[in-house]
Amino acid sequence: MIYQKPDCLFCRIILGEIPAKIVYRNDHVVAFRDITPVAPQHILIIPVKHISSLNDLGPADEMIAGHMLLAARIVAEIIGIRESGYRLVFNTGADAMQSVFHIHGHLIGGTQMGWPPFPGLPTVHA
Ligand code: AMP
Repeated sequence: MIYQKPDCLFCRIILGEIPAKIVYRNDHVVAFRDITPVAPQHILIIPVKHISSLNDLGPADEMIAGHMLLAARIVAEIIGIRESGYRLVFNTGADAMQSVFHIHGHLIGGTQMGWPPFPGLPTVHA
């Protein structure tokens, strides 16, 4: 059974209660344009099932994780950045500034991006 959380913003987009510029959807995932893009192309890829964050992705969600990755590749083709390149980011928790607690991948591209994201900072190895 697919589960939506009534007070979740992204669940409400899935249900069509809140408008969004949807670029791709199938039975498992929905992809729509971020309302505050940080790059020329910025798409959010979310599962239809409500999962709060990557921390809450369980072994039973293996197929969902795969569907999100496949959707990222399909969306990159649809929006024309397959060959130029793109990045897929899953902000998770406070340090990553996750603000919407329905797991989502940010697919960003359409410009040259820098790496590492914080050059000059000391790295911490376990
Ligand atoms: P995060 O900070 O990683 O949780 O990302 C949440 C993203 O959702 C942000 O990039 C927001 O701009 C985006 N966002 C919030 N509300 C909407 C909305 N109604 N439609 C599309 N994107 C949204």
